[in-house]
Amino acid sequence: MTKVRKKIVSISERYHYVFHLALGLVVFGISYDDTSKRISLLYICLVASIIPDFDHFFYYYLYGSKTEYAKIIKQYLRSRQIRAYLSFCKSNHKSLTGLYSHNLLTPLLAFFVYSFLWNRNNIMLSAFFLSFALHFLFDMFEDFVSLGKLNPNWFLKFNR
Ligand SMILES: [Zn+2]
Repeated sequence: MTKVRKKIVSISERYHYVFHLALGLVVFGISYDDTSKRISLLYICLVASIIPDFDHFFYYYLYGSKTEYAKIIKQYLRSRQIRAYLSFCKSNHKSLTGLYSHNLLTPLLAFFVYSFLWNRNNIMLSAFFLSFALHFLFDMFEDFVSLGKLNPNWFLKFNR
């Protein structure tokens, strides 16, 4: 890996959620008009930009609970080692290829719903779906930068 790419990977790992939230802010910026309720719209954009990662908890406690990754995470959470949990996630989340929501169909569908709602002037819900979709685009961008390719989960091949 080149020096520049290493730097980008480390910045993107450190500020992963800052980038997600920033994309939510961008959606807020392009969606906002005089008719929308500013605070609600902002809240919707920020929440939708990180909501896809709630799937991690479904993975840890439901459909991926038997995996080594989930066992390690649950051990950290049980013993309230939040720092260890966060640092483990930071350095290992690219090896987690089992999140069902993180596949190409989810952002595609979300973009479709977004454009449908946008055309019907439903600012709030369309902003939700655009922020939601952009979350996955950023995760894919991160895959490209740190792995040079997309992880198999994007192609519906999980845990490989
Ligand atoms: Zn994600």
